[in-house]
Amino acid sequence: MESPVISAVDVRKTYGRGANSFDALKGVNFDIHDGESVAILGKSGSGKSTLMHILALLDAPTSGTITLGGVDTRTLRGSRLNQTRNKTFGFVFQQFFLTPNTSVLDNVMLPLKIAGVGRAERRRRGMAALEQLELADKAKNKAANLSGGQKQRVVIARALVNNPRIIFADEPTGNLDSATGAVVEDILFGLNRQNGITLIVVTHDEELASRCDRRILVRDGQLVDDLAAVPA
Ligand code: ADP
Ligand code: MG
Repeated sequence: MESPVISAVDVRKTYGRGANSFDALKGVNFDIHDGESVAILGKSGSGKSTLMHILALLDAPTSGTITLGGVDTRTLRGSRLNQTRNKTFGFVFQQFFLTPNTSVLDNVMLPLKIAGVGRAERRRRGMAALEQLELADKAKNKAANLSGGQKQRVVIARALVNNPRIIFADEPTGNLDSATGAVVEDILFGLNRQNGITLIVVTHDEELASRCDRRILVRDGQLVDDLAAVPA
């Protein structure tokens, strides 16, 4: 088998110190391969977001290692770390994290600006991503004036604009009604199946999880189950 895109080895995370410390991850091990779709499931407080933030290099583990494309991520610091995150990952979070008073297009182009892509190329790629999400007509609108489903599609356009190898989604349908959530799900799985983007989704939603190739169950900071989907 191909070498994994992400490998987590004995990953631990302790928040706080001394008497007030809390072990949120207690030694987690697994590999994720290119093109997989993986659901991370578990009750509230089990450590799902902590794990995702560590996999996405938004936070460092207290101990243990994350290897990304064969690179020990402890060797990545400062601008190399930022660049790696920005070029390799797309993020789709429940809370959207859009800048409300700037245009939809500006929001989508932000990762390209961070990557140092020139203005004309930013516009071209930003508009292409918006077209893919059927939002080209909203390019000049303020992000604040969109519906929840439109905002989440803008977030997906922004996640796509750098051609990421991996999309991380934390409860991507959590703030959406079920019909809108289904559209967002279809878009994410379409990107996984058609573009080969690895999809790592934190979710409470059994239906969403059942569409993934694999389900990882987290309980009290430990991985208690890792199941491949039964082929349909
Ligand atoms: P989940 O996403 O599964 O709901 P989290 O990963 O957010 O869980 O949190 C796991 C545990 O770690 C929870 O008990 C939470 O209270 C605790 N925790 C999360 N972030 C912090 C923090 N910054 N400081 C202290 N404890 C935290
Ligand atoms: Mg969470």
